[in-house]
Amino acid sequence: MTDKTPCPLSSSRADRISGDVAVAGDKSISHRALMLASQVQGTTQISGLLEGDDVLATAKALARLGVVVTRKSAGRWEVAGVGAGGLKESKDVLDMGNSGTSARLLMGLVTPYPFTTFFTGDESLRARPMARVIVPLSQMGATVTARENGRMPLAVIGTDKAQAIRYELPVASAQVKSAILLAGLNVAGKTTVIERARSRDHTENMLRHLGFVVDIAVQPDGTRIISLAGKQAVLQADREIQVPGDPSSAAFLAVAALLCPGSHIIIRNVCVNPLRTGLFVTLEEMGGTIAFRNERVVAGEKIADIEVTHSKLQAVEVPANRAPSMIDEYPILAVAAAFAEGETVMHGLGELRVKESDRLAAIVQSLAVCGVTARAEGDSLFVRGGNVRGGGAVKTHFDHRIAMSFLVMGMASQEPITVDDAAAIKTSFPNFVELMNGLGAKITPPSTCAKASVDTPLIVAIDGPAASGKGTLARRIAEHFGLDYLDTGSLYRAVGMKLVYSGKDPHDREEAMHAAEAIDAEDLANPRLRQERIGQAASIVSAYPEVRGALLEFQRNFAKGKKGAVLDGRDIGTVVCPNAQFKFFITATLYARAKRRHRELQGEGIEVVFESVLEDLRERDERDEKRAIAPLKPAADAIIMDTSTLDASEVFAKACAIIAGKIPN
Ligand code: C5P
Repeated sequence: MTDKTPCPLSSSRADRISGDVAVAGDKSISHRALMLASQVQGTTQISGLLEGDDVLATAKALARLGVVVTRKSAGRWEVAGVGAGGLKESKDVLDMGNSGTSARLLMGLVTPYPFTTFFTGDESLRARPMARVIVPLSQMGATVTARENGRMPLAVIGTDKAQAIRYELPVASAQVKSAILLAGLNVAGKTTVIERARSRDHTENMLRHLGFVVDIAVQPDGTRIISLAGKQAVLQADREIQVPGDPSSAAFLAVAALLCPGSHIIIRNVCVNPLRTGLFVTLEEMGGTIAFRNERVVAGEKIADIEVTHSKLQAVEVPANRAPSMIDEYPILAVAAAFAEGETVMHGLGELRVKESDRLAAIVQSLAVCGVTARAEGDSLFVRGGNVRGGGAVKTHFDHRIAMSFLVMGMASQEPITVDDAAAIKTSFPNFVELMNGLGAKITPPSTCAKASVDTPLIVAIDGPAASGKGTLARRIAEHFGLDYLDTGSLYRAVGMKLVYSGKDPHDREEAMHAAEAIDAEDLANPRLRQERIGQAASIVSAYPEVRGALLEFQRNFAKGKKGAVLDGRDIGTVVCPNAQFKFFITATLYARAKRRHRELQGEGIEVVFESVLEDLRERDERDEKRAIAPLKPAADAIIMDTSTLDASEVFAKACAIIAGKIPN
């Protein structure tokens, strides 16, 4: 992927983060949902599928192997299963992109077929060893021709004479186990995998959820003997798989909340399979306030809502036997450790050297760049915690978890942290930046930060409740000082309008996010935006962090306009432009505002009773003030103007005088 233009991002200190969110679907489970749904007869509906590049690589590969895989809407996919033995030869090379899981599992899936399948991937995947799957698949009968050291591109020459094997995993690896089990689905006889140390069991859980019989015997020493009879005919119509949220993605939000003072977040529907929660266990040991609420089982997996509150962290020693349950989480744990009191030691990290990058080396280098003392010795990592200076430029080596981890570090370090290329983030967490910014992070392209400090345009932020007169004031100031003007309420109204006019419920959070991503200039000029019911819908959708995140960049880009800009809304001074030179908070009593709005509506020939206008405003005020994210409140440095007894010209004259420096603010 070196041919792609790098996408640098910078993260600056955030005040606090708060909100109630859902993270994207779990990557491991998403891969398995698609692959295993292809192995049953009949249709499976999947919801919450992670639509990152890695999972899309699996979907495309299955399509090339003759499976009809259809995207119905965001996260909702349908797989028309072909059953074990039903795959067809792919006419082209299967490109696995950056996804090791896709490559290894699919190599297993195609082993028991009398055709050849070619695999390749991006630069980083082509450097990763595949030998550990080649060995057992060869025992089953496949012939694998690969580059030196079992690297891709490679060809799996399958056979319909593949044999069931009994294989003891030399190291705990869910990918190797799954590759063997997937191959075993289409061979006669019983395929058995023996694991001494536990590895992730999503494949076994998903197989059982879909109706396959999988036998798991646990020995007194903890060894697990997992066996599966091949050629099981699983015929069961209308299956469903709900993919839970990815705990590895939730990890970034959780650590951000622990590190930024005053933070409190809830992350909904996260997979809390005990083989995945090592990071949360460790963070709790470090003194983090983390609670799993509402635990339940969905699609064979344990899930919960995770609540995290800012906490002071202490260094701990993390045992090697925890590594399998948090192998992807060491970069973000290293970031947490950098802020903890004392030296944190993590053991058993050898596996990190063969991840998307030599992650262990990348973690140590990146910590050093940000002023943190850390060292790797053998398979252990030592991180000395304290105040983190930041200010570094981190090289991500196209590793998504390194990129996200250090953007989280920037949220709590003294100086902003830049990552050289954040493009890889979309492999596992496509809306990471929008979601984080929606919660209160300040993650932007570095040019934005540089620009703000070099030639600072004049930004006037005007916030306040509905009908306070802020719009009129903003328009007049923009005109007077020759600045561009953005009514940010119209963005939220446009989202509400899109939903209402297409018969959708503004409470449907996913639809709201898609509407937010789809708004264009034409929507902003639509006269329907001013309708009261659209204002109500706007105030509902504006409480969703995903919606706020999706609209944030547009607002910030607008504010970067050459000569400067006036923006009005609810969170301009607090979130959108916290560095604005002038911040006004325009307010008035509920009664005065309702009177104004009533008069306006009558002026437009709309007959409404005053009480209903009053009630509408009261409802919107309450929603705007009480929402967890970007609630309506004056910025600490805002100038508060109560306009209950002032007319528009008086308000304008006062604000103008402040901006022109005629009266001190
Ligand atoms: O200002 P206006 O009434 O047009 O905004 C419509 C709704 O959009 C508001 O009630 C508020 O809930 C939301 N909004 C917001 N943040 C902004 C602007 C508007 O949450 N910056």
